[in-house]
Amino acid sequence: MNVYDSEQIARSLESVGYRMTSSVKAADMILVNTCAIREKAEQKVFSFLGRLGDMKKVRPELIIAVGGCVAQQEGRKILERAPYIDLVFGTHAVSRVPEMIKRIESESCRIVDVEVSEIISEIEFPADDRKQEKSGTFVTIMQGCDNYCTYCVVPYVRGREMSRNPENIIREIRNLVATGVREITLLGQNVNSYGIKEELCSFPELLAQIAEIEGLLRIRFTTSHPKDLSENLMLAFKNLDKLCRHIHLPVQSGSNRILKKMNRKYTREQYLERIEKLRGICPDIAMTSDMIVGFPGETRADFEETLNLMKTVEYDGLFAFQYSDRPNAAAARFPEKISEKEKRERLLELLELQEYFTLKKNKAMIGSVQEILVDGMSKRGAGSRRQGTGSRGQGESVNENDVPNKNDVQWMGRTSGNKVVNFTQSDECDTDTLFVGKVIPVRIEEAFSHSLRGKPLTITELSGLKGDKT
Ligand code: SAH
Ligand code: SF4
Repeated sequence: MNVYDSEQIARSLESVGYRMTSSVKAADMILVNTCAIREKAEQKVFSFLGRLGDMKKVRPELIIAVGGCVAQQEGRKILERAPYIDLVFGTHAVSRVPEMIKRIESESCRIVDVEVSEIISEIEFPADDRKQEKSGTFVTIMQGCDNYCTYCVVPYVRGREMSRNPENIIREIRNLVATGVREITLLGQNVNSYGIKEELCSFPELLAQIAEIEGLLRIRFTTSHPKDLSENLMLAFKNLDKLCRHIHLPVQSGSNRILKKMNRKYTREQYLERIEKLRGICPDIAMTSDMIVGFPGETRADFEETLNLMKTVEYDGLFAFQYSDRPNAAAARFPEKISEKEKRERLLELLELQEYFTLKKNKAMIGSVQEILVDGMSKRGAGSRRQGTGSRGQGESVNENDVPNKNDVQWMGRTSGNKVVNFTQSDECDTDTLFVGKVIPVRIEEAFSHSLRGKPLTITELSGLKGDKT
């Protein structure tokens, strides 16, 4: 979500004469987009701002802006803590950033804008005809959240849930497809409740409309709250070819006692029932989840229920976090806090178990042919490196111009289930098929904990496949 917001802000600043630079030292303005989801993320913001303060001492004309969830949460307090900051803007002020920067340039003033709006803000951009370097990107379909899970800061820093109009979403995706984007990930804290409050279309209806967009090859979405996972959404996985066979369905805990304290509004049994139904409708769907360990009052028995649920579901990937107190969130005031040591130990135990299932799932794919959307070139050997605990954000893209030798090129892409696949260009394969943004069939030959390695089908194999079909 923050990546999407950062991209939107960067684009909007082009209207007032700024463009992105890859060098912090060369920048005339530095804009820090922040995350407040866990305390560690917040601490990182302040240590980074400290470093920017040192830069400003040497270059007083440098403009420094801080936005996002920490800015929304802390507001004016950021200026007190870091007096060299020029602009603090909250999560609802994104569309006003260019005009505020203009004011700062002309009046040398300092601005704090953390006003919360009741209507969703749309940033209008002129049509963009620049070719995108990546095959996939994000599109936000809704802001905020009304769920108030007791551990979570999102409703306090992102505000009430609001959905964007389908027409605006579709227009944005069409524009992106025209610049070369082939895969869209729709973003929202709970996409299942898309459009309900505003009486727009339902989320499955939105998916069906997006699937009609010519040139778009794949659709993904995140996040889906288990309490609202509807049968129509399950059926979309079966009926819409473009919808990738992957669902991120965060359970957070396997213990009913903890789920209740978290205010998640489903039980372990209801969650498992929905997973079973979904697998009945779409058997090859990949599943990932988020998990929190060490929520206040979590006993060893509760934690074991979580491990037990993981053994029942066998997730393809998992994002696991140690519980962290957040200001405003109700659980910050809950008793029976778990020690840091205990949280760390539980996290390690859980990750070790997940590693086993991820590898098991990946190994089961050896020998299969997977449709891979090519993302770009990857560093050689990236496949065997540990890069996180799940299937999001894996793989390391490198600049196309950095790779000198054709025979040494390793490409990277993703399966429909969102698994990273690295593959080299074989001599016999149809070289025309190898470029970013295309879907190509790759036979999986090796499996690692966090990625797969394969070989594109040769022309002979491809014609064999086509022959099989007719
Ligand atoms: N809307 C999504 C989650 C968004 S936040 C959902 O409901 O699933 C992403 C993840 O961060 C959450 O799923 C949760 O696992 C984790 N998280 C949120 N608040 C946290 C906290 N206070 N401590 C630890 N992990 C937290
Ligand atoms: Fe946070 Fe719960 Fe909303 Fe997700 S659904 S953003 S965890 S309050």
